Amino acid sequence: AKNKGRNAYEFYRPEMTTAASELLAIDRGLRNAIQSNQLVVLYQPKIELSTGRIAGVEALVRWHPPSQGMRSPDSFIHVAEETSLIDRIGDWIFDAVCNQIREWKDRQVPPVRIAVNVSARQFRNPHYVENIRKKLAACSPFDGFGVDVEVTETTLQSEPSIAEALRQLKAIGFTIAIDDFGTGYSSLSSLKQLPVDTLKIDRSFIEEIPDGPDSTAIASAIIAMGHSLGLTVVAEGVETQEQLKFVVDQGCDEAQGFLFFSPLSAQECEQFLMKGSV
Ligand code: C2E
Ligand code: CA
Ligand code: CA
Ligand code: CA
Repeated sequence: AKNKGRNAYEFYRPEMTTAASELLAIDRGLRNAIQSNQLVVLYQPKIELSTGRIAGVEALVRWHPPSQGMRSPDSFIHVAEETSLIDRIGDWIFDAVCNQIREWKDRQVPPVRIAVNVSARQFRNPHYVENIRKKLAACSPFDGFGVDVEVTETTLQSEPSIAEALRQLKAIGFTIAIDDFGTGYSSLSSLKQLPVDTLKIDRSFIEEIPDGPDSTAIASAIIAMGHSLGLTVVAEGVETQEQLKFVVDQGCDEAQGFLFFSPLSAQECEQFLMKGSV
């Protein structure tokens, strides 16, 4: 009975089977999505708080399967990260952003920096930096347009080669933002040793302003700490006037969130870039 019981647990738990087959289905669907142009990049502007001008835009991927709604990256990026599929998706997104820069440049859209999210797993590819350096070289000069790399605080801690990769990216003209900041455990000294330009305060803290005393204290501490290290600090997920007032009062540099803009199609985003401010 003992042996049988063990096998039954490892191989026949219905929820395990469902999860595995769903992962496989997503993986298969995604491979097809890359080939048949079902991935779309949306752009969410960030606002410079001292001027109200658009400080940059963040590229956010969506998956649009035929005759279905848009799928959010939270439903598929983690699956792609389990396999090397994230490398292909990452390449696709980077190419899409380079093409967008070329198009906006041709159409005389005022230059803006575009932030690209990079998964921890992508840094495990030893050719990653060289690969995107080539892509970038193939489509420059950008004349004021530029690319920022966003890596999460967790990525910094999980990938041993990250410091060197970030230094190389920085050397070829990228700026580096730490995403979801405050949710990991980066020390001040580790931050000082990395070639970081920007901290993005995680949305979970901004969400609880002004009623959550801990989150409010953490948000102001991140702003003060970031400034003491000479970094730009961005509040993400700003949805209310109260949250905006708080981060402005604390001297935060930039904000991003539904209060200003949702992620926009390239065409919609272009119209706002032409105007320059909110
Ligand atoms: P993230 O990088 O932290 O991106 C911010 C997420 O917050 C986006 O969700 C954005 O649409 C959403 N957001 C922006 N403002 C607000 C707001 O005011 N309120 C609320 N509730 N949400 C807001 P999205 O686009 O669904 O992306 C989710 C995550 O998927 C991203 O989190 C990022 O980690 C990942 N992701 C998105 N695009 C890419 C990509 O191209 N490559 C990789 N590797 N990951 C990506
Ligand atoms: Ca991000
Ligand atoms: Ca974030
Ligand atoms: Ca996030």
